Amino acid sequence: MTEFACKTNLLGLDRDQLEAFFAERGEAPFRARQLLQWMYQRGIVDFDQMTDLSRPLRERLQHEASIIPPSVLDEQRSEDGTIKWLMSLPGGSAVETVFIPESGRGTLCISSQVGCMLNCTFCSTATQGFNRNLSSAEIIGQVWLADQAIGEQRITNVVLMGMGEPLLNLDQVMPALSLMRDDLAYGLAARRVTVSTAGVVPGIDQLRSGPDIALAVSLHAPNDALRTRLVPLNRKYPIKELLAACQRYLADRKRKESITFEYTMIRGLNDTPAIARQLVRLLGQLPCKINLIPFNPFPGTPFECSEPMAIEQFQRILRAGGLVTTVRKTRGDDIDAACGQLVGKVLSHNSRRALVQRQLAQQALA
Ligand code: SAH
Repeated sequence: MTEFACKTNLLGLDRDQLEAFFAERGEAPFRARQLLQWMYQRGIVDFDQMTDLSRPLRERLQHEASIIPPSVLDEQRSEDGTIKWLMSLPGGSAVETVFIPESGRGTLCISSQVGCMLNCTFCSTATQGFNRNLSSAEIIGQVWLADQAIGEQRITNVVLMGMGEPLLNLDQVMPALSLMRDDLAYGLAARRVTVSTAGVVPGIDQLRSGPDIALAVSLHAPNDALRTRLVPLNRKYPIKELLAACQRYLADRKRKESITFEYTMIRGLNDTPAIARQLVRLLGQLPCKINLIPFNPFPGTPFECSEPMAIEQFQRILRAGGLVTTVRKTRGDDIDAACGQLVGKVLSHNSRRALVQRQLAQQALA
């Protein structure tokens, strides 16, 4: 092994892990706090520039550690100000990261895996198959790179709604979440960091012991038959178990927050008034918000977006049933940066499976 390969990448270590790194070397815990501020608040990754560390310590870090963010392979800017980056990863894969500026806020949508193994039938990431989990360095590295690239603009919110299922990569996602929340790193408030899941029940339970963040659950249907067609994971964790996990999550949060349910609107499939009423009956008792996402098409999909009238009517029924409901604005669709359009470059192990899945979806609609 080369000397380089033995170095610890300090990017992605949360405060506890960084303190342990210094403790192993006989250094005081405040070194970790200094490093956090240099890396995340000032964007400095060159130990030589960290002037409040002694020269011998800087030299030692040069030998034993590194700070390596992913690199940008491509950047596209949409007419509406949305920016999409293709982030290159070791081994030839790449993931996508999207910055969405709005008045008074800037939301960064990041990826947690190269590809995805869940095969949701309406998501283009699924057609790419799955390659591997991102490391914590690669997850927080997307925030680091975007922060460098947006100049005067600010990242006020981070959502894990890019490529991948974050709750199937919690070991690496957790330290990255801690860094987003840590005052010495990005210092974002709990409600400004959102993890979105397709419904991995054990992962929701594990999140309860992690840093406080907002939870979004991709529901898409109010009954198991329909949901299983859209989100095959529903076979393993059906709606009743999923909602029970949501209840447990809400029960022991320190601050009472609600859960956001994402609901992609697909024409003729999950957008009828009868289904809206079923959704009201299902969620009426849970503190939650519904976010309706107009389906974003991608090449080869058999699905279409619901008619605007159908979305409006659906929203009206949910609101009348007492559910706080918003419709997500589609952003960056001219650069394929909208929800479910992120594909990256996945050197897949199972794209054949994804292909079969797609054919099944086509048959289901025929
Ligand atoms: N795996 C996680 C996060 C990634 S997807 C999850 O499933 O929640 C982020 C959101 O975009 C999810 O709600 C997903 O269902 C939705 N989505 C996926 N493909 C879409 C498409 N083509 N159009 C609209 N929304 C889509």
